[in-house]
Amino acid sequence: MAKENNTIFGKILRGEIPSDKVWEDDYCIAFHDINAAAPTHILVIPRKYVPTLNDLEKDDKELIGHMVWVAAQIADQEGIADDGYRLVINCNDMGGQTVHHLHMHILGGRGLSWPPG
Ligand code: 5GP
Repeated sequence: MAKENNTIFGKILRGEIPSDKVWEDDYCIAFHDINAAAPTHILVIPRKYVPTLNDLEKDDKELIGHMVWVAAQIADQEGIADDGYRLVINCNDMGGQTVHHLHMHILGGRGLSWPPG
């Protein structure tokens, strides 16, 4: 039986709570982060419930590749592609993951420091 997705992103996917969507297709959706860490801060999430990067299966390679491609389309759509931006996937506690439904952050619109804190 499929695992139940009780995360906030599961609720967004099911339309139980609203989100400010910028992309929707058969495999993923993307929406503005509620607590933006940069002028542009968008999250790309798969429709499939994958809790963390550690749960990716071999068959998910196409899905994760598609999410990266979608992120690049959104960066272009949002006008941050040429100046530059960052894609981030946090994994578990030490990686700073707070929502356990896989998601890719698109961050842009300002200079981003390195390394992350
Ligand atoms: P994480 O820390 O897990 O990598 O990122 C989770 C992100 O989800 C955070 O940047 C946080 O602001 C965002 N977030 C948490 N709850 C909600 C919500 O209800 N709606 C939206 N749009 N973003 C959320």
